[in-house]
Amino acid sequence: MTSPYDLLRYYIGPPLIILGATGGVQVLAWLGGDSSSLPLSPWGNGASWGAVGVTLLWGLASLWVPGEDFYGPETSFGYTPRYKANGVPFFVVSVAAYLTLVFLTPQLPIHLFRNFANIIASCNLLALLLCVFLLVKGKQWPGSREKIKPKPLIYEFYRGIELHPRILGVDVKQLTNCRFGLLAWELLVITFFLAGWERNGFSLPHLVSTLLQTVYLAKFYWWETGYFNTLDIILDRAGYYICWGCLAFVPSLYTFASYYLVANPPVMSTWGAVGTLILGLTSISLNYRVDWEKEYFKASNGRCALWGTPASCIEAKYETKQGVRRSKLLTSGFWGLARHLNYTFELLLALSWCLPGLGRGLLPFIYFIFLTILLVHRVFRDEEKCAVKYGTAWVEYCQKVPYRMLPGVF
Ligand code: NDP
Repeated sequence: MTSPYDLLRYYIGPPLIILGATGGVQVLAWLGGDSSSLPLSPWGNGASWGAVGVTLLWGLASLWVPGEDFYGPETSFGYTPRYKANGVPFFVVSVAAYLTLVFLTPQLPIHLFRNFANIIASCNLLALLLCVFLLVKGKQWPGSREKIKPKPLIYEFYRGIELHPRILGVDVKQLTNCRFGLLAWELLVITFFLAGWERNGFSLPHLVSTLLQTVYLAKFYWWETGYFNTLDIILDRAGYYICWGCLAFVPSLYTFASYYLVANPPVMSTWGAVGTLILGLTSISLNYRVDWEKEYFKASNGRCALWGTPASCIEAKYETKQGVRRSKLLTSGFWGLARHLNYTFELLLALSWCLPGLGRGLLPFIYFIFLTILLVHRVFRDEEKCAVKYGTAWVEYCQKVPYRMLPGVF
């Protein structure tokens, strides 16, 4: 008999999330718009499909161009995913090309702002179609020999089937996450800043919000190959959760503070904007530093110094189908203060680019609120994964570094 937990997890939760989130992003687009917004057509319109199609093809082309490959960590079933390692040129050329396009067609930002609800409708449809395709592909033509226990269909659609599917010669998650979702995020925040400038005059707080997101996204592309070691890639299967998330949720919710400021211009003072810029840049640097310490430590196989002393660690081992593997859990630097300080700084940086909406109610902070829930939940998800993988070594690490995100508090 199905337990209440399984009923919720496999049958009730997924359809509720799918309906709520797919509709929710359309509501957000409506909430941030104003009377100048174009009416929503549930199927999108020619312009919205043009914008979404060009971004998708551009992202796809960036993975087809010849260039260096990067190999991600081997899976437990012996598959080593292959990615294209050209994140920085992709980001720089994309932003330059978009700014040139705006220079040639100055009305483009305002037009995209007014048509945003339809752009999100196109993103929604594209994402849902892709997720259906991924479900069928995972069941009929899986690309790997991984044995996956069948689950209820709606849950499989939500969670995804394959870990690293490839379509048209590219890794699906690199395309949806890195080359569509995050690029759309960058282009949209530039768009909303320019649309706000056109409508309301120049706004320093809006510029600060745009700059901070641009620095953050540039940092992402700088570190793109590191992203292939994260939970999104090594744990999450290509399904609604991650692929719809990057194709529709990121362009909608992640850009919302910038979108909202077009119809509701910032009321923050110049000094407030300067303080926000300092807070944002500091948080971005610290978030990068925490991630870097772990990568640097892993790349040197533990033989490195952090904060002026040799790095300390706990020896760990875990089993794979290919046998026992060894690893090390870092206990120095930021990783000796708390187990997820990168998430703490991530929250501060997200807060900083929402702050220009201060005085405009709660809506400009919706991304920050969402991210707080996501990252707290993610801490527990990650720790559950690590506890299963590393067993007693993980318990020892938690005893040595007892706090998760805020030393002395949580
Ligand atoms: P982490 O970078 O914290 O990676 C967690 C993994 O690191 C664990 O599963 C484990 O993997 C390894 N690990 C954990 N503790 C240690 C340790 N002490 N020593 C060595 N290895 C350890 O998490 P994410 O992948 O979630 O995040 C990466 C970045 O992305 C962060 O900057 C985060 O803030 C950001 N992010 C942003 C989001 C957004 O929507 N804006 C969402 C999620 C993340 P292993 O099994 O390999 O040992």
